Amino acid sequence: MSKNVPITVAYGDGIGPEIMSASLHILQEAGARIDIETIEVGEKLYLAGNTTGIEPDAWDKILRTKVFYKAPITTPQGGGFKSINVTTRKTLGLYSNVRPCVSYHPFVDTKHPIMDIVIIRENEEDLYAGIEHRQTDDVYQCLKLITRPGTEKIVRYAFEYALKNNRKKVTCFTKDNIMKLTDGLFHKVFDEIAALYPDIQNEHWIVDIGAAKMADTPEAFDVIVLPNLYGDVLSDVAAQIAGSVGLAPSANIGEHAAMFEAIHGSAPRRAGQNLANPSGLFLAGVMLMVHIGQPDVAEAAHNAWLTTIEEGIHTYDIYQEGVSKQKVGTREFAEAVIARLGKKPQTLKPVNYAAGENVPVASDTITLRAPAKKEIVGVDVFIHWPTSKGKPDDLAELLQKVNGEGLELTMISNRGQKVWPHGMPQTFCVDHWRCRFLAVEKGKPITHKQIIDLLQRVSDHDFDFIKTENLCYFDGQPGYSLGQGE
Ligand code: NAD
Repeated sequence: MSKNVPITVAYGDGIGPEIMSASLHILQEAGARIDIETIEVGEKLYLAGNTTGIEPDAWDKILRTKVFYKAPITTPQGGGFKSINVTTRKTLGLYSNVRPCVSYHPFVDTKHPIMDIVIIRENEEDLYAGIEHRQTDDVYQCLKLITRPGTEKIVRYAFEYALKNNRKKVTCFTKDNIMKLTDGLFHKVFDEIAALYPDIQNEHWIVDIGAAKMADTPEAFDVIVLPNLYGDVLSDVAAQIAGSVGLAPSANIGEHAAMFEAIHGSAPRRAGQNLANPSGLFLAGVMLMVHIGQPDVAEAAHNAWLTTIEEGIHTYDIYQEGVSKQKVGTREFAEAVIARLGKKPQTLKPVNYAAGENVPVASDTITLRAPAKKEIVGVDVFIHWPTSKGKPDDLAELLQKVNGEGLELTMISNRGQKVWPHGMPQTFCVDHWRCRFLAVEKGKPITHKQIIDLLQRVSDHDFDFIKTENLCYFDGQPGYSLGQGE
């Protein structure tokens, strides 16, 4: 018998304490070899003025146990409060969000009787880097960051997960027909890594049609890996169409720690009434057991839970007249599962956990590359210029006065659409202009000094510049997109 594994537990807010007690009770009765260390996070701390909702020393505790089992938290309404989930993922580097979405037909109502998908969502990058700016009267911006190391980690994780869990196929969703550089990188890395796993099928879908297909025919998918925003949206869709958001667990895995939680929130209106379904958090606990190397406990607990579901013992949220046999509260549901420990389901497929599921991929799998040869060939200068001052051609005429020292204005776009030269009068414009300056001698590298001098001239001509983006070639390949219509 292995010795106990310490885990950090937060009981959370709303229905959190009830569903956490129920989940831990089942796991312990199933033989979990764990020592529980509790930390306080959430509403109480927020309301006491701690905007992060978590005590600084809680990080030490989580980093010591490396395993965090977290009930849902209530984030108070109003500005200034930081989401604990986002903070935890980022602080601990939990780059992989794993969400199994399974239907339990015919016991839980579902449109999709055959559904067993695992969504693997990149958890740290994309539009969630939180780098947002208001730039002009009209325009707000959020930066979408996709990195090669971040993408390599998540895609490798998806294939390793597929391999260890006997999954047949990994599908990637992106929108690389539009975002050719960012989503293009995600797709490219997916193809590179897929080639290292010849025994696992791979495919790529554009996210819009892929999402439609997933909502219509989920049985066509197995493991799906995708960037942060698409993953956030589609994992909720997948959980909902499987039957109930209340049943879905989520694991957040990193190299230094892992966090396990339900995907639903703290349901404050159901709190303290012994009503809530503990299943989402409990199934997250099952993933936790596998993660800490106790697949025997995970298997016993999960099979007892499946047996309870197929025997029709249901909480109010999944209870259906004619299908369910008994409507129970949170505590009674947990007792029903405990009473079935040792049993296997007859209709639903029993689980058979091999040790090693949900194992994080070690950091040494990241490919280190030699830096590319980078040459700056131009600069985009973003300018705040009210539309009341004139048309794009007027702006171009004024801006051409700042040409010089080997740089010239070649294009102006508004919201990404080229408006000069040869713009269309119908194009709707706002007060935010991207003005592209390139070397007069095409392809000739330029210097930082040329850019700084250009900005000085832009400022001297009373233009309000917002920011610049250097236009670079990396190993001879352009590292920037063209304006629509350029
Ligand atoms: P919610 O998920 O708490 O509730 C949505 C609906 O689902 C409600 O009708 C609720 O009664 C029902 N529901 C949810 N979980 C259930 C369960 N286990 N059993 C039975 N019914 C269940 O979403 P919300 O109402 O939008 O958010 C409430 C609070 O939760 C907010 O403060 C929000 O910030 C927070 N939240 C926290 C997390 C988290 O900590 N991981 C996630 C989402 C929302």
